[in-house]
Amino acid sequence: MDMASINSNFLKLKAGYLFPEIARRVKVYSDTEANYGPAARIIRCGIGDVTEPLPRAVVQAMREGVDEMAEHKTFKGYGPEQGYDFLRQAIVDHQFLGLGISADEVFISDGSKCDTGNILDIFGKGNTIAITDPVYPVYVDTNVMAGNTGDGDANGTYSGLVYLPGNAANHFVAEVPATSADLIYLCFPNNPTGAVATRPQLEAWVRYAKKNDAIILFDAAYEAFIQDASIPHSIFEIEGARDCAIEFRSFSKNGGFTGVRCAYVIIPKTVSGTAPDGSRVPLHQLWGRRHCTKFNGASYPVQKGAAAVFSEEGKHQVSALIDHYMGNAKLLREAAMAAGLSVFGGENAPYVWVGCPAGLSSWDMFDKMLEEAQVVITPGSGFGSGGEGYFRISAFNSRENVEEVCHRLKVLLG
Ligand SMILES: *Cc1c(COP(=O)(O)O)cnc(C)c1O
Repeated sequence: MDMASINSNFLKLKAGYLFPEIARRVKVYSDTEANYGPAARIIRCGIGDVTEPLPRAVVQAMREGVDEMAEHKTFKGYGPEQGYDFLRQAIVDHQFLGLGISADEVFISDGSKCDTGNILDIFGKGNTIAITDPVYPVYVDTNVMAGNTGDGDANGTYSGLVYLPGNAANHFVAEVPATSADLIYLCFPNNPTGAVATRPQLEAWVRYAKKNDAIILFDAAYEAFIQDASIPHSIFEIEGARDCAIEFRSFSKNGGFTGVRCAYVIIPKTVSGTAPDGSRVPLHQLWGRRHCTKFNGASYPVQKGAAAVFSEEGKHQVSALIDHYMGNAKLLREAAMAAGLSVFGGENAPYVWVGCPAGLSSWDMFDKMLEEAQVVITPGSGFGSGGEGYFRISAFNSRENVEEVCHRLKVLLG
């Protein structure tokens, strides 16, 4: 029969995605006339988006990039799909020095969200996928779309995935499972919990991956927020990771690029997967082919701006941004602890992960914070059933707003 059938895996996705549901509840609350007064005071600590403007060094470099595009002599059309050498080399020199990564193992893109989803293109069907719970929802939903799961239940838990529980007992750093997995998603510093993995914990994961011939997909979008010098910034700081890991990095959270778009994937040439005939194929080769076929490169002015993050001036300005957000995180942590709540994260990440007051579910606490304090937080259960009973407060805000949120927490629970 002639008809265009669809990818029916999409029908397995849960309709009520977290952030639309948050937006819906905020709208219902603020549209209620009786709430017009208090609703006008709403402070959003929900979505993990930066609030401060771009570093000046980045703005200057992007302007120069645009000016070059305006002249015949310096105009550029399509650039290299994998990114300009000046940016790939700057990344290696400033972020991976001494870790054995070369510039041609860096693939520039327009975002880590797309990269973490698109990477599934190069993996076969039937892989066992391990994800932490709670988790960044993109890892789950892209595996649902790719057909790597069965059906989901009402909690958004999908059959066929290996869930690695994070909880208060393990400080939200999942332990290696007893069973084998083929692809493992790790995100440290973590969104949503703000947890970081120590070197021994990452070593255990690399050992596990090598033993099980698995690949670690390591999302390091928040590495710039690490304050503790003993915490690794990259999975490639771990011996053996060059044989079993891919790392995702982004300029979104350190450079404030969420609206500019630039990120990168590191794929060492030594990481490989297995072909149907049993031969080993380097993932670098497959991703290179995929990237050149489906992507035409990030924009030149944007890559100029990204490289400026590594200039002396840029480093200074990025570090001031991080200090600002981490100062916010400290205030939020202290306020939540003073309110008698159990608090995780916020020390090496811009997210504070907080246990709800006794008897309240994540969404109960969301409603209470919205209606009684006019503060929008993110319900932990939206990140997986392991997040139930917790909520996330984002430190991406102005100092003024954060101080007001701390005050309201005190009035609400103090
Ligand atoms: C913000 C974020 C990213 C970055 O995504 P971009 O598409 O590069 O903006 C990646 N991973 C996690 C877990 C994030 O929270």
